Amino acid sequence: MYLPKTIQKAIEAFNTLPGIGSKTSERFVFYLLHQSKPQLADFASAIASLKDRVTLCERCFNYSDQHPCHVCSDPKRDPQLLCVVAESVDIIALERSHVFRGLYHVLGGLVDPLHGIEPEHLRIRELLSRVMTEGIQEVILAMNPTVEGETSALYLQKLLKQSPIKITRLAKGLPTGSNIEYADELTLASAFEGRRVIH
Ligand SMILES: [Zn+2]
Repeated sequence: MYLPKTIQKAIEAFNTLPGIGSKTSERFVFYLLHQSKPQLADFASAIASLKDRVTLCERCFNYSDQHPCHVCSDPKRDPQLLCVVAESVDIIALERSHVFRGLYHVLGGLVDPLHGIEPEHLRIRELLSRVMTEGIQEVILAMNPTVEGETSALYLQKLLKQSPIKITRLAKGLPTGSNIEYADELTLASAFEGRRVIH
């Protein structure tokens, strides 16, 4: 099918997004072609400014446009509770469920040796330093119930065993192989509330 190069390029750009196939990309591009120039400029600048304004919080490594991020700087949060997640997107899911009032630590992935992701590629050193210096009482390991999630949680559990803090994991309420990111609020809240002590 012939398509002008500019349109083709825009379709290819959308096609690189996770979960977006060619048909959806085409629909997006033709929808955008119907928009006014200022609307398109707003859309483009929202994307272009992502990397200008958003960086990682130096304390928890969540995406933020302020330092420290809005969670770390909120005096109403309990700094004795630390929830460890793989990615920032997991924080969005947990915040939506309103079940947690402590602070977070984003690992930046999960241990996945098959794809070359070893513990040293994640922010584990930073986690240990926070555990040692921030007066944390409980570390909640909130990893996806997947092979990589289990591997990472076991690895952290072993590392943290030497410290006197309490370590908990989310209850088995989340379907095996699923992602925290996609879990509904009630399931996530009950998995969080029913978290089990492992150390
Ligand atoms: Zn933060």
